[in-house]
Amino acid sequence: SYRKGGYHAVRIGDSFAAGRYIAQRKLGWGHFSTVWLAYDTQSSKYVALKIQKSAEHFAQAALHEIEVLLSITNGDPSNSKCVVRLIDHFKHSGPNGQHLCMVLEFLGDSLLRLIRFRRYKGIELNKVREICKCVLIALDYLHRELGIIHTDLKPENILLLSTINPAKDPIRSALTPILKRPEASGLNGRSMSMVEKRLKSRARRASIGGEAEAPKLAKSMDGINLRCKVVDFGNACWADKPFADEIQTRQYRAPEVILGSGYSFPADMWSFACTAFELATGDMMFAPKGGKGFSEDEDHLALMMELLGKMPKKIAIGGARSKDYFDRHGDLKRIRRLKFRPLDRFLVDKYKFFENDAREFVGFLCPILDFAPEKRPTAQQCLQHPWLNVKSSHQKEMNVQSNVKVGMANLKIN
Ligand code: ADP
Ligand code: MG
Repeated sequence: SYRKGGYHAVRIGDSFAAGRYIAQRKLGWGHFSTVWLAYDTQSSKYVALKIQKSAEHFAQAALHEIEVLLSITNGDPSNSKCVVRLIDHFKHSGPNGQHLCMVLEFLGDSLLRLIRFRRYKGIELNKVREICKCVLIALDYLHRELGIIHTDLKPENILLLSTINPAKDPIRSALTPILKRPEASGLNGRSMSMVEKRLKSRARRASIGGEAEAPKLAKSMDGINLRCKVVDFGNACWADKPFADEIQTRQYRAPEVILGSGYSFPADMWSFACTAFELATGDMMFAPKGGKGFSEDEDHLALMMELLGKMPKKIAIGGARSKDYFDRHGDLKRIRRLKFRPLDRFLVDKYKFFENDAREFVGFLCPILDFAPEKRPTAQQCLQHPWLNVKSSHQKEMNVQSNVKVGMANLKIN
């Protein structure tokens, strides 16, 4: 992709915007861009520099993203809405063409990396709650104040706030080479525990050496107030001007999108609920696969119904693509036998949730997973839900454990 119309090749130390930004290292990439940590010599701060591929189609997409980001940033002067900020934008000419560049505030790891770091075992409910609050604040802002649908909400597009100095970050440098593409590197439980061992021994050495690494490590792993921001507005659209029929990443796709029934803000709410489930359990809520005689879409609808109950007939047969999946009675054409399992039982049996944790969490999630989009609560309504303000029993237990740990640490020092 590093050819005419494609990515711009960057070397560490390259400068941009007449010397204002100096590239430090690569942070990530997408289909459209590479994203670099850069030093802003004007503000003396680190920023994320997103450099778009140069071909006309990508430039168009970047212009759209800049337009969305400008309205997001301008509408939130107090920086309290949990969405990424656009600091600057400019054009950069290179051997592969002219690239639109976006300068964004520098953020930390994505929630996907957090899930992987927890070895797909899920994050404590109390932290899930804090993350949910942030994402709901962002969605409420986008939906109610700006009229924007994100259309690609998922753990990868929610980034933690970075609390550490990106230039010398021991945790990140220990994790980055392995966590970048765990699928590709065939990462399994064993190699991951090697990473953890490495981190632990670093922390031990650091505490012996009196360096500041151990507290940093503890903070990044156990930070109590997890704050995060929603990123990647490349696919976002104004609700009155939707431009694609098919939106969202497969696993987070709402039923109305699959059925071709039209979509709006509630489609983001569906993705939000799928994301919350994944944070709490470590598993994707729906991971459909095509099979002999049925499509990925049909499997997806079957998985939804197994967990959430049968789809009302009116909704099932009401979409432009309903005939591809449902017969006229509202039953799936090719997947005839469904294994129903209520969500709260599923959380207790498979994920070992305490009964009341499961009940409370499902009380929050289920209304957002209504098959009828207009019946789903809005982000504003979700923010009022009591679940966001209770402490789970699981959390109570974790507190007891961490008190014990603190006690032991004191003992050692003494
Ligand atoms: P694309 O539109 O090409 O998918 P994204 O905006 O999703 O690009 O960015 C690609 C990756 O770059 C993200 O997954 C993330 O790892 C990293 N990234 C993006 N924005 C930031 C940021 N503001 N701070 C830190 N890393 C970022
Ligand atoms: Mg992306």
